[in-house]
Amino acid sequence: MMESRQEATLPLGGRLLARPSTSLAPRIMILGGGFAGVNTALELGKRCAGVLPVQVTLISDQNFFLFTPMLAEAATGAVETRHVVYPIRSLCGKWGIEFGEMSVEAIDLERRRIIARHRRSPIRQRVHYDKLVLALGATPSMTIAPGAAEYSLPFKEAADAFRIRNHVINLFETAALTDDQWTQRRLLTFVVVGAGHAGTELMAAIEELTRGILLRHYPSIHRDSVRLILVGSTVLPQTATNLAEYAKEQLVKRGIELEATRASAVTPDTLILKDGRSIPSNCIIWTAGTQVSPVIATLPLPKARDERLKVNEFFEVEGARDVYALGDNASQINPHTGTPYVATAQVAVRQAKALAAVLEAVLTGQEKKPFRFRVLGEMVPLSRSTAVADLRGIKLTGFVAWFLWRTIYMLKLPTLGARLRVVLDWTVEVFFERDVSELTVEKLEGS
Ligand SMILES: Cc1cc2nc3c(=O)[nH]c(=O)nc-3n(C[C@H](O)[C@H](O)[C@H](O)COP(=O)(O)OP(=O)(O)OC[C@H]3O[C@@H](n4cnc5c(N)ncnc54)[C@H](O)[C@@H]3O)c2cc1C
Repeated sequence: MMESRQEATLPLGGRLLARPSTSLAPRIMILGGGFAGVNTALELGKRCAGVLPVQVTLISDQNFFLFTPMLAEAATGAVETRHVVYPIRSLCGKWGIEFGEMSVEAIDLERRRIIARHRRSPIRQRVHYDKLVLALGATPSMTIAPGAAEYSLPFKEAADAFRIRNHVINLFETAALTDDQWTQRRLLTFVVVGAGHAGTELMAAIEELTRGILLRHYPSIHRDSVRLILVGSTVLPQTATNLAEYAKEQLVKRGIELEATRASAVTPDTLILKDGRSIPSNCIIWTAGTQVSPVIATLPLPKARDERLKVNEFFEVEGARDVYALGDNASQINPHTGTPYVATAQVAVRQAKALAAVLEAVLTGQEKKPFRFRVLGEMVPLSRSTAVADLRGIKLTGFVAWFLWRTIYMLKLPTLGARLRVVLDWTVEVFFERDVSELTVEKLEGS
């Protein structure tokens, strides 16, 4: 592939993040360019730029921030994938935040430095920090079932959305080559493993894409050939029961099969369930569970049961000095419930703002303010202008919930340009057909 040709290692290293030797400003190093990392950097930049002598450095393995709440829409073409990612350099540039596109391999807590490497460089950089913020997020747990990592598609990154959309369309193209309905049905069986927020939302979006849009373009494919299966013990387990029931009814009404069990293994063309039954499928998407970043998992520090780092109300990591954690890396007790905050973007963004204030207080010798946040609620879009929403106990379903979801999340996009792009995608779809082109990545990359 072209990527591997171009990715010949370059003699980089040492230059990417070399702080001028004259600089005495303490370095606040933030690891991770997601909701937690980017918002901490931006808030710190706003608070400190031109006021405090401090160098804010953000390191992430990709040079963009991904807005995950719209990943299912990107994976099914309701919005363009590029419209749910935002370049970190243009978000952070004006606040003088230093950015390095590097993958963190290890953290040396004793020597106060991180070890990181750009994917095109053989050289590992060791970069010193004065204060460290851990925001490396989580990764899909694909080791739960044998074969899941090899034969199913993850759903977490922008590249996953791109891959899923093309794969679904590719299966329709392949199925159109045969008149045999059994083969068509096998090719067009779409399985999502994991019936939590992300899995349920994605299954509903795939139903809309396949039955609502793609079938119109493939007259030789029989409607019954499309089979949609959502696998998971409970649909939306963390959602209020009546809302989860509504979501289930909606899915069943649209012909989505619910398998209330777990997956036990994946082969190249089959999903095997815990009860021994198997589902032949060429499209198995894995959304069942996440695990904390491997860099965090290997740190010799106290962890909660889910491997997140234990932090106090000031985000200080238990057992380490000058190290802070937040977002999906932190297990922090919510004083309103006595249990740890759930790992969501909503919490990560609020934590980021509070952590920036804590760091400013530490740098200026002022009193730190503890983090207290009452979770606003939960919203799950179910496509076809339907959603469920629980806003501080106010429960909504159907079109009203869907409209609220779109409005609230559109306003949460990071820039005005980003909001306009997404609104334009939504508006265009009201009047014109969704783009069903298959962008064959291998061909684009020249292999
Ligand atoms: C499909 C999906 C839909 C979701 N929908 C919602 C929703 O509707 N509402 C909601 O509140 N939450 C939602 N979430 C959860 C939300 O995305 C996470 O809780 C949130 O992203 C956590 O923020 P974070 O900054 O801790 O981690 P992340 O946003 O995952 O950021 C981690 C960052 O670290 C980088 N990174 C990882 N490892 C390394 C490394 N070794 N070196 C350098 N960089 C690294 C990553 O590239 C990434 O930029 C959703 C999640 C998914 C997957």
